[in-house]
Amino acid sequence: MSKSDYYEVLGVDKSATEREIKKAYKRLAMKYHPDRTEGNKDLEVKFKEVKEAYEILSDAGNRQKYDQYGHAAFEQGHGGGHGGFGGGGDFSDVFGDVFGDIFGGGGRRGGGGQRQQRGSDLRYNLEMSLEDAVRGKELEIKVPTWVSCEPCHGSGANKGSKPKTCSTCHGQGQVQMRQGFFAVQQPCPTCKGQGQIISDPCKSCYGQGRVEKTKTLSVKIPAGVDTGDRIRLAGEGEAGPNGAGSGDLFVQVHVKEHKIFERDGTNLYCNVPIGFTTAALGGEIEVPTLDGRAKLKVPAETQSGKMFRLRGKGVKSVRGGATGDLLCKVVIETPVNLNDKQKDLLNQFEESMSGKTSKYRPKEQGFFDGVKKFFDDLTS
Ligand SMILES: [Zn+2]
Ligand SMILES: [Zn+2]
Repeated sequence: MSKSDYYEVLGVDKSATEREIKKAYKRLAMKYHPDRTEGNKDLEVKFKEVKEAYEILSDAGNRQKYDQYGHAAFEQGHGGGHGGFGGGGDFSDVFGDVFGDIFGGGGRRGGGGQRQQRGSDLRYNLEMSLEDAVRGKELEIKVPTWVSCEPCHGSGANKGSKPKTCSTCHGQGQVQMRQGFFAVQQPCPTCKGQGQIISDPCKSCYGQGRVEKTKTLSVKIPAGVDTGDRIRLAGEGEAGPNGAGSGDLFVQVHVKEHKIFERDGTNLYCNVPIGFTTAALGGEIEVPTLDGRAKLKVPAETQSGKMFRLRGKGVKSVRGGATGDLLCKVVIETPVNLNDKQKDLLNQFEESMSGKTSKYRPKEQGFFDGVKKFFDDLTS
């Protein structure tokens, strides 16, 4: 089977940084995620490709192997960790794999036959601000769902009566039908596979054992969550029919774009405009942090685009570890709306440097020397 190039799959250069790879992956994972593509098989394949490419390229060792040997490096014995592809496994497995659960045990999973009985899992998309995501928040969410019927305690049978075991299938829910030589298992036609008959159905749920209701839940979002994280509320999904167990509710976090900060993992990035006098002479400027203002010393002769690191002013991940940094990129702002006097001063200033570009603006001088050489080489 021929495979697409991992870099092409993620749409990044071979020289892409770790951060660029992660960014590309996040974007594509959101785009092709099975929850968003509603069973489109082509997109499902695409999602698996993206996930596989990321798993290889995000690991320095594997990336090196891939760069050297291509796909052949992973054809045997799989470096481990991604053996689950293409097995037609259900989506919930793929899902759990990509976005690790923050809390809540995995004890309910894989219960074999019970899973079909159990109510459906629900997903709640939660949009939140960067501040809330960083600090954590307690909030109430409203979820339309099925809950166990109270009057009948989920049995579906009216007060005072009980569901009777189906006499056709003796409570098995299945019957054997003979077709020539073969015995075929079929759902019991009398009880429709339920194994029991409700002769006097509950008036509230009409025998279903559950009713539709909008539930209000209080959710505690832990500090440090990021887009793609999800929080499992065990047993808060839909109630199953006829008293069967409930599914889980997953709160899927999506952090909204921030006006000032861009987050990457535990680090925050922001651009800070500064005047060119401060840049030239040095000085102290104020920069924003998530906890308020902070002072930043700018040395003399600072160039536009210079990055300053404020240690520990980033984010602490929900998974623990050290708090990240705030990286401020200073961008020099050219003055606008100058009056005549100010223009005069600038002209005088410029004259004071005339003929000495290499001393005062060495980069500019070097650049134009390079341009001159470029044209000389073209014409020679
Ligand atoms: Zn039956
Ligand atoms: Zn009921």
